[in-house]
Amino acid sequence: MKPTIVLVGRPNVGKSTLFNRLTRSRDALVADQPGLTRDRHYGIGRMGDRDYLVVDTAGFDPVAKDGIMHEMARQAEQAIAEADVLLFLVDGRAGLTPHDEQIATRLRRADRPVFLVVNKGEGMNRAMAGAEFHALGLGDPLVISAAHGDGVRPLLDEIFDTL
Ligand code: GDP
Ligand code: MG
Repeated sequence: MKPTIVLVGRPNVGKSTLFNRLTRSRDALVADQPGLTRDRHYGIGRMGDRDYLVVDTAGFDPVAKDGIMHEMARQAEQAIAEADVLLFLVDGRAGLTPHDEQIATRLRRADRPVFLVVNKGEGMNRAMAGAEFHALGLGDPLVISAAHGDGVRPLLDEIFDTL
């Protein structure tokens, strides 16, 4: 059975870029425009001899009650339900935001392993890039660059070690 890895996080943190790297596809829409990926998106990946499914989600706001944010939250709940493991992406350049904290509040109750992934970490000191995200209460941040590929293989190693 291929494990299902679900990518969650607010818009523009790099979920679709990581999806593309994990699946080596151009299927997920990557854009500067925040929140462009409105729906879940499925892909199959393999790294070394490890096979997995990846789900890219819209960025979501767990407290929104209506409109597109409500729809994205609903989709995210579905994505959590089908996850074997969740990757919570945050932006190491933008830093910690209130929206990240809202999502973390939801994920701390998720009945799944959650990895806190600090993206856009290329050229940054890893300890410095991750430090402020410890406050999210989701363990040690793993610093990667989805765009450049830095840290992605070690991240997959950690994921498969916990499964
Ligand atoms: P999503 O909304 O979470 O799916 O984010 P996207 O994958 O669409 O990326 C949003 C923006 O961040 C795009 O401009 C990407 O090129 C950029 N981005 C993604 N990953 C990285 C990264 O590792 N480093 C940097 N510097 N930019 C990145
Ligand atoms: Mg996207």
